[in-house]
Amino acid sequence: MYKRVLLKISGEQLAGREGGIDPEFVAWLAGEIQKATATGVQMAIVVGGGNFLRGATFAGHGIERPTADYMGMLATVMNGLALMDMLEHHGQTTRVQTNIHIHQVAEPFIRRRAVRHLEKNRVVIVAGGLGKPYLTTDTAAASVALELDCDVILKATKVDGIYDKDPAKHDDAVRYDKLSYQEAVSNPDISVMDKAAIGLAMEQGIPLIVFDLHQDDNILRAVSGEDIGTSVS
Ligand code: UDP
Repeated sequence: MYKRVLLKISGEQLAGREGGIDPEFVAWLAGEIQKATATGVQMAIVVGGGNFLRGATFAGHGIERPTADYMGMLATVMNGLALMDMLEHHGQTTRVQTNIHIHQVAEPFIRRRAVRHLEKNRVVIVAGGLGKPYLTTDTAAASVALELDCDVILKATKVDGIYDKDPAKHDDAVRYDKLSYQEAVSNPDISVMDKAAIGLAMEQGIPLIVFDLHQDDNILRAVSGEDIGTSVS
């Protein structure tokens, strides 16, 4: 059982079939998160924004990359706010903190304040990534997990772990139970998490678990230290 965890949720996970945010799914997700936090585990969440926009793919036709990246960061704020209300609706107190200034809707990310919230069993949702272009929210997740002294990074995805090649494209893909940081970084076919994020986790020795978000009780299992998904350490 972990004391404090960092849960990374990609924007893609929150999207319905139409893109954007699927309220039904986010409501279910909030219930799943609440089941996990009911155990007393402290949780910070880093949300992505890929359901709305990714800077690297949106840039072009006159839109500069940094502008596209800032738009991507703003997208993560929308996801963070949706998650905030859904969690509060489930009785879980939350605070949204951002690394881009947007005072009307969120607190600035302040380490000591975030830690205090966690100690009071509030879920801290960190939106806006790290507030700088050319980065991803995976990297933000690794950085925030380290800054907030989390025991583990839980990367929630649509697959049940890390495979030797993309399981959506290859029937014979094999899932790893455990993987070293080195293997995760060096295998060019592993794309489930940003390599910069894995590199940072490796440098600082924080474990990383990649697991399937879409199964009932999986977040609860992950925070309880059960063997699910692929652990990278
Ligand atoms: N982004 C950024 N700096 C950060 C975090 C995010 O520039 O520190 C931008 C980047 O354009 C990224 C977008 O925000 O593509 C959305 O984040 P991400 O792609 O990581 O979302 P996810 O894939 O997790 O949904």
